[in-house]
Amino acid sequence: MGKSSKKIRGRSILDFIIYLIVISLLSYVIIINNTKIEEINKKNDRYKLELSKLKKEYKRIKKDEDNLKKDIEELSNLDNKIITEKNKTFKLASEVEKKIKNSETDKKIAYITFDDGPYYLTDSVLALLKEYKVKATFFTIGSGKATCFDNKNASCMETYKKIVDNNHTIANHTYSHAIFRGLYSSSDIFTNEVKKQEKLIYEKTGVITNILRFPGGSTTAGKLKDSIIKWLRENNYGWIDWTAQDGDGGDLKSTNQAWNTFKNSINDNIEVILFHDYSDITYSILPDAIKYLEDNNYILLPLFYDSVMINK
Ligand SMILES: [Zn+2]
Repeated sequence: MGKSSKKIRGRSILDFIIYLIVISLLSYVIIINNTKIEEINKKNDRYKLELSKLKKEYKRIKKDEDNLKKDIEELSNLDNKIITEKNKTFKLASEVEKKIKNSETDKKIAYITFDDGPYYLTDSVLALLKEYKVKATFFTIGSGKATCFDNKNASCMETYKKIVDNNHTIANHTYSHAIFRGLYSSSDIFTNEVKKQEKLIYEKTGVITNILRFPGGSTTAGKLKDSIIKWLRENNYGWIDWTAQDGDGGDLKSTNQAWNTFKNSINDNIEVILFHDYSDITYSILPDAIKYLEDNNYILLPLFYDSVMINK
C-alpha cells in the first residue's frame, strides 16, 4: 500500500510538472502568435495606407493624363486649322500669280528669301518680320561657318522651330553648302547633302520640305545640273533661284550699296528676293525694303511648292 501511494503521489507530481510545461509552452505559443498577429495587423494597416495613397496618386495621374490628351487634341486641331489656312492662302496666291502672269491685276508678289541660316542674327530677323507682319522663306543649312551650329549658339536648335512656328516657309539649301569643298563633285554627293538637310529640318521642326535652292544658284551645279534636277523631280522636289537681291552674298561695302542694288533689281511683277540672314547690312535695310515693296503694290508671301516660281 505504502509503495503504491508513493507511486500515485510521484505520478501526480510528474503530471503536474507535465501540465506546467504544457501550459507554459501553450502560453509561449499564444504570446508569440499574438505578437505575430499584431505585426501582421500593423503591416496590413501600412499596406492599406499605401494602397489608398496609390489610388489617390493614380486618380491624379489619370486626371493629368486626361487633361494632357485634351491639350494634345486641341493642339492638333490648331495645327490642322493652321494647315487649312495656309493651304487656302497658297491656293489664293496661286490664283493671284496666274492673274499677274495674264496681266489681269495690278497687284504684284514678292517672295523674300533668306539663305544660309539659321545664324545668330536669324532670331532678330524673325522678330522684325513679325513686327512688320511679313512671311518669308528660309533656305537653311546644317553646317558651315555662318551657321549658329558652328558658332555654338545654344538657341540655334530653337531657331529652326521658331521659323516654322512663325509660319514662314522652311526650305532646303543642302546640309554642308560646301561649294568649294566637293558639294558639286558628283550628283550622289549633292543629293545626299539634300537628304541630310531634309532629315535635319524634319528632326528640328516636324516639317518635310520639298523646296530646294542650289548653293551658289543652279548654274553652280554645271554639268551635274541635269542629273540633279532629274533626281529632284523623281523625289518631288521643286527648286528655285532668285530674280532680285541686295548683293549681301558678295562683297557688300555699305548700306547704301545694298539699298541701290536691291532697288535696281526690283523690276518684275513677281520677284524672288535673295537675302542672307547672316548679313547685318541686310538686317539694317530690311524695314525699308519691306516698305518699298509694299508701297510698290507687292504682296509679300512665303514660297510654296505650287508657286509658278518653283521649277519642277
Ligand atoms: Zn547659300
